[in-house]
Amino acid sequence: MSIDTKALADKYGTPLYVYDFDYIENRYTTLKEAFAGKKSIINYAVKANSNLSVIAYLAKLGAGADCVSIGEVQRALTAGVSKYKIIFSGVGKRDDEIRAALEHDILLLNLESEAEMKRVEMVAKELGKEARISIRVNPNIDPQTHPYISTGLHENKFGVELDMAKRMYIYANKSEFLNPVGIHFHIGSQLTKLSPIKEACGIVADLVRSLKAINIDIKFFDVGGGIGVVYDEEVTISAKEYTQVIFEMTKGLDLTLLCEPGRYMVANAGIFLTKVLYEKNNGGKRFVIVDGAMNDLIRPSLYNAYHKIEAVGVEGAKEYENTPADVVGPVCESGDFFGKDVPLPPLEHNDLLMIHSAGAYGFTMASNYNTRAKAAEVAVQAGKDRLIRQRETYEDQVRLELEYLEK
Ligand SMILES: *Cc1c(COP(=O)(O)O)cnc(C)c1O
Repeated sequence: MSIDTKALADKYGTPLYVYDFDYIENRYTTLKEAFAGKKSIINYAVKANSNLSVIAYLAKLGAGADCVSIGEVQRALTAGVSKYKIIFSGVGKRDDEIRAALEHDILLLNLESEAEMKRVEMVAKELGKEARISIRVNPNIDPQTHPYISTGLHENKFGVELDMAKRMYIYANKSEFLNPVGIHFHIGSQLTKLSPIKEACGIVADLVRSLKAINIDIKFFDVGGGIGVVYDEEVTISAKEYTQVIFEMTKGLDLTLLCEPGRYMVANAGIFLTKVLYEKNNGGKRFVIVDGAMNDLIRPSLYNAYHKIEAVGVEGAKEYENTPADVVGPVCESGDFFGKDVPLPPLEHNDLLMIHSAGAYGFTMASNYNTRAKAAEVAVQAGKDRLIRQRETYEDQVRLELEYLEK
């Protein structure tokens, strides 16, 4: 992105998240246009980046929201997402979350077990409402991605098997308090191959056909999220190829297509800026110690995920001077790194590093470990920057403890 990262680092301080809203808009419209000719809703997966301004920007473009907690549902509503474009997924919902979702009258609750269906029925009955539901089917497909982000195999905790799904639909269809209008699957994240998506789509579309045959009329076909993005040199799926496969497998069915992209929308819209504190050598190994840490961006530590790291405008830097360095933060864990053996020029105190592809699962996974304040977040749109989340302070962190302090 053409952003003056140095100026932003000076203006807002580091560590800092910066999101390019024009990029997000481009991703949204590209995907939406790929669905042209069909009824569709793009339910942005809020967990990827739940900053209110990001959600609001997408809502204005027409996006819905896919939420995995009532907190995310509230964020979506606060940000202005239409309630009829909000879906609530997740493998474990509390009664109070179910109640609030029904009271807010959102589009769908995605159910992941028979036990959960019974709870939803009970809560709906108490409220005297009919709950619009969708069932998450686990099609037992290997998505060929990282095991931590693979969700569509029976060995994963997500969804229900096909026969169970069918039994649940039959039960829900008879219930006064359940209205089974949707079907859902989500086989994993960072999917770079089409064939598992196609296979899963086919299996679930066949189930829809067999449900229609017994007069259970599914209206919403939710293909989940997971479209892969380029972190390094991956070859991934295009929006067009993706929707063509979905169209092909759902041929002849009158459905509103839902999809729940998170990473696709925001990963490469974001960068994380961090300043060099020191360089050091341990027995010949070069370390660059920066002011950001795993509490800010945990993906390298958690998944061994690759993020491209670049030194920004270091004076006189020559490529041949680059030597491999581990880029590490100040947190007291050996796993606190952003990159290993990253070729970098000699660096000095206050030089700026840019960590790419940090827009998804970056800030949302941040913590206060080591009593580190969470970073600020900035939006850049049409060449203008604005703060969308203040840098946390020490006071923010101790606010909920101070009144209980006994000395
Ligand atoms: C995490 C998740 C998504 C978003 O996944 P991405 O890989 O970010 O697109 C969508 N749907 C469900 C149910 C999820 O759990």
